[in-house]
Amino acid sequence: MKKRIAILGATGSIGRQTIDVIRKFPEFFEVVALTTHSNVELLWKYACEFNPRYLGVSERAYSTARDFLCSSESALLSGKNYLSDIATLPEVDLVVVAVVGFAGLEPTIKALQAGKTVALATKEALVVAGPIITSIAQKGQLIPVDSEHSAAMQCLVGERHQDISLLYLPASGGPFRGYTFQQLKDVSVEQALKHPKWNMGPKITIDSATLMNKGLELIEAVHLFNLTPEQIKVVIHPQALVHAMVLFHDGSIKAQISKPDMRIPIALALAYPQRLPLNIPEPSLEDLSSISFEEPDEETFRALKLARQAAKEGGDRPCVLNAANEVAVESFLQKKIPFTGISQVVEETLNKLPPTSNPDLETLYKIDLEARQLALKIITKISER
Ligand code: NDP
Ligand code: MG
Repeated sequence: MKKRIAILGATGSIGRQTIDVIRKFPEFFEVVALTTHSNVELLWKYACEFNPRYLGVSERAYSTARDFLCSSESALLSGKNYLSDIATLPEVDLVVVAVVGFAGLEPTIKALQAGKTVALATKEALVVAGPIITSIAQKGQLIPVDSEHSAAMQCLVGERHQDISLLYLPASGGPFRGYTFQQLKDVSVEQALKHPKWNMGPKITIDSATLMNKGLELIEAVHLFNLTPEQIKVVIHPQALVHAMVLFHDGSIKAQISKPDMRIPIALALAYPQRLPLNIPEPSLEDLSSISFEEPDEETFRALKLARQAAKEGGDRPCVLNAANEVAVESFLQKKIPFTGISQVVEETLNKLPPTSNPDLETLYKIDLEARQLALKIITKISER
């Protein structure tokens, strides 16, 4: 029987690549539901191609979508909870969560509670509410799409948890690898959006440039694999061929290596444990002989240090870190603050909000809002200077 798929964020970078994989394997997958925030035109194209039973759009885009999609046979869902409504549809087996940021949290939880398999790209959900999500997810129900976590999952197949010493989390280093703090102050939005290895949505591309992405991934890995932050070592690996390495107590290291192409972890998450013949070339011997690793510069790229600290402190700290970062990245993209202002906003927000331990979901929603408001105030102060 075909796996019935819903894609939340179908018009984004991960969403489009998921469509690409599904298009190649119509014998395995049926598209049941697709959502967009605002890209109604692309949603329409996908609706014509796949004829899904449901389409979802944000409230903001609803009236445009209604006109655009009037001849489509799909039911159009919108409103405050449209992502969760789609994530829990009885006709859906697997939900790809590929929206940006905090918006992915509720549908992830609702999908897990409804017994769906979740292919999770939206790492921010695990960053904000890792303990809550992992307590709901049954074994095998939550499959990472993030390339490093997909790689780690593959390295850990057949291994005992107590035999793990260390997880190496590779980062390409982004466009500003080797820059000094002084040089970082003057980088432009356009420069920051040019990632050397991956073609991704704007938010994660900026996170990759600040190294916050690796910090978020560290927190994501803590929860997915039940590791301590001390068991995770970030390494700079500019070739982006090794996606994770696990060191075991006997001195062995297992690594997962492939070209930097998100369709590989996406396809594995869709078909797990089956591997689909994707026709993506493997790294050549020349590629493999170029592999190198170096230590990250956490004094210059402070975001990584802040994230590690938040992971160690736990409680609401990762939620505050994430909220402040989302707001700060948005402000940087709007050219309101400089690049180095992003980690400054995150740090000041963390310092100003007193910590809360063991927050439940409702408390996390409140803290997220509070952190966003505080971050906005800090941004106003920075932009007036
Ligand atoms: P994009 O910005 O390219 O796409 C995001 C998608 O979600 C779009 O369909 C967008 O709609 C929709 N969307 C955005 N904001 C909201 C919202 N508030 N509510 C509902 N829908 C929304 O992002 P990416 O695909 O790059 O990233 C998605 C997630 O996957 C992120 O959490 C990212 O960290 C993670 N990820 C991405 C990787 C990548 O290679 N891109 C790699 C690993 C993880 P619209 O098109 O209208 O804007
Ligand atoms: Mg990643």
